Order: sequence, then C-alpha cells, then structure tokens
Amino acid sequence: MLDSSLYSIVDSLRLDGNSYSLKYTAPKWASGFDCPLGKCGACCITDSPVDLRKKKLISPNLYICSEYDYDNKMCLAYSKRPVTCIIYPFLMGAEENEILVSPMLSCPGTRSMNNVTKSLLSTILSEPRISEWILRMMRIYDYVKSFPTLWEEADSVWGNLRELVNDTINRGNIYPISERATKDASKLVRLKVGIAPTCGLPSLKAMFDNLFKTVAGFIVPFGIKPEIWITEKIGDSISFRSLDNSKTRVVNIPSTLPDLEFEDESKGILSDYLRMLLSRPYLQLASLRTRYLSQEGKMSIATYELLTVFIGSLYYFEISAGLIAMKNETACVDALIANELIAFCDSIISGAFYSPQF
Ligand code: SF4
Ligand code: SF4
Repeated sequence: MLDSSLYSIVDSLRLDGNSYSLKYTAPKWASGFDCPLGKCGACCITDSPVDLRKKKLISPNLYICSEYDYDNKMCLAYSKRPVTCIIYPFLMGAEENEILVSPMLSCPGTRSMNNVTKSLLSTILSEPRISEWILRMMRIYDYVKSFPTLWEEADSVWGNLRELVNDTINRGNIYPISERATKDASKLVRLKVGIAPTCGLPSLKAMFDNLFKTVAGFIVPFGIKPEIWITEKIGDSISFRSLDNSKTRVVNIPSTLPDLEFEDESKGILSDYLRMLLSRPYLQLASLRTRYLSQEGKMSIATYELLTVFIGSLYYFEISAGLIAMKNETACVDALIANELIAFCDSIISGAFYSPQF
C-alpha cells in the first residue's frame, strides 16, 4: 500500500493488450521530472545508468560514457541510447496487476516543477524491451503465488520490517536507525546476527570500504544550476570535489558517526525519503525474489538478500548523513544539507537496485 505522505499518480495503463494499474511513488517535493538538456549530464559521467560503454575520465574510478560529448554535455547517440538510459532516473517493477515506478533522487531533474505524468511513463513503458521485462516480472509473481505458505511467511517478514521502520520514523528517530532495525530484523527471521555483511553490525571501516569499492559516488544538490561533486575514497579519507576542481573538501573517515541534530524541515524531508525507500519497486522486487527463492526451500538465502538490500540502505543513509555533515562542517542538518544528503545517498545505493538486464 502506498504511504499517504507520498505523492502518487494512480492510473491505468494498457500493455500487451491488458490493463494494469500504474503507481508512481515519490515524496511531494520530488514529484516532477525535467532533464535540463545540455546542462547536467550527471548520469552520463558517473556509474548510473548501469552497464554503459565506458571510458576513464579523470580519476581511477570515474568513468564517462563513450557516447557522451563532455564539452557540450550532450549524448552523441541519443536516438539509439540503451534502455537503461531511457529508463533513467526511474526505477520500475511489477507485482500482480500493478506497475510500480519511483525516481532516483540522485538526479536533480526529479526536483523539477513539471509533474511526472502518465503520458511520460507510458512512453517509457512502451519501449518493447521494458514492457517485456515488466511482463516477465508479472509471470514470476503469478508462479510463486501458487505456494501460499511460503508466500505468507515472506509477507510477514516484509510486513514486520515495514512496521519497524515506519514506527521509528513516526517517533522522529531517523538517525541512527540501522542498529535497531538490524537487531529486530534478525529476530524476525529466526536467523542469527551476522547473516549478512550489512546485517551483522559491521565496522565502519568495512562499510566505507564496501561503499566506495567500485564506483565514485556523486552529488548533484538540489538547485537551479546542477553542480556535480565527485566523491572518492583515497586511503583513509573521503574526497569531495566539484567536477571543475574549483572546490575540494577532504574528510578523514570517522571511527564513529558524528552526533547530528536535524532541523524540523530536514526531519520531514528525510522521513519522506526513508518512507520512499520502503515503497520503492526495487524493494518490492527484493521481496518478490524472496518469495521466488522461498519456494525452492532457500528461505534463509532469500531473507539474507532482502535484509542485505533493505538494511544496507539504512546504513548507507546514516553514513551519508555523517559524511555530508562533515563535508559542510556542521552538526546541524538543515533542509539544504538534507537534499544534498539524499542526492549522495541515492547515488551510492543505486548499485543495490534491481534493474532489468538489457
Ligand atoms: S542526472 Fe537527471 S537531470 Fe542530469 S542529465 Fe541525467 S537525467 Fe538529466
Ligand atoms: S548513451 Fe547517451 S544517454 Fe546513455 S549514458 Fe551514454 S551519453 Fe548518456
């Protein structure tokens, strides 16, 4: 069920001769989309969208798509761009008769005044490779529904996790959130703590290593003029630098996360974000995978996957909050820093998204 505090388009859509319900979920302040053509380019010079033809840019782990005209900020193969580029910045999934879509908030275009419309989503979904992938998800869903006991068990794990996070958010405790979620989740699924790297209360060092293992993160803060910041781990430090190298900030990796204060407005923004994480299709698809693996008698593996994705997101959220506050040399998170934090966190956790392989 969609959270009422989140913006949504609920409409119907015809695909392959059938009618499906279409749901778009985003916080109200990120309910639009507009790509400022020729002005941003963040998605073409970072790790998202996935699996691009890449060439190395200006640092050991920062790549630019080989079709990208860096000087003019244009795609040289726009009419033939891959499906991942057509989908970006939307995450898509399907359950039963519903198609679920939500935005990646690392894209600054998601803060535009132009509301996302059914027509925009219909255009994207009508791409044959996308619609085939959506229909395949629905077929898997139908298949696993024929195992009611396992279905109920997986539903109950997922339902309890949702309740736990909603309860934490409602009490205003958005930071830290992961430790409590980890402990409770471990009880829920009858598994011992330590089942997953992100579920076993890992050291901060391990988390940082994991966070920056393969990609540079990036930040494009909310604003009229997108400004791309590249983040990298260099030794025991995290470097933040603007793409034109005019601004740099280096922070040492902390041994403990800083104590932060959140202004009321930023608390609201970040609570919306956490709620969106719960509603996102990729999480629902993680739940779908749980069900799918369950029927093969691999409940523990499936639960491991679900928890890793979900609780890992909460850890990344906390670490992102600490890092962005340190970058801005403050312990008080206001609305602007909250937006920067969300952009950073969403770029970092994008690797956990369940994306179609094209
Ligand atoms: S990150 Fe978003 S706004 Fe920027 S170029 Fe990509 S789709 Fe457009
Ligand atoms: S193919 Fe085009 S749209 Fe896709 S990442 Fe490369 S430059 Fe960007």
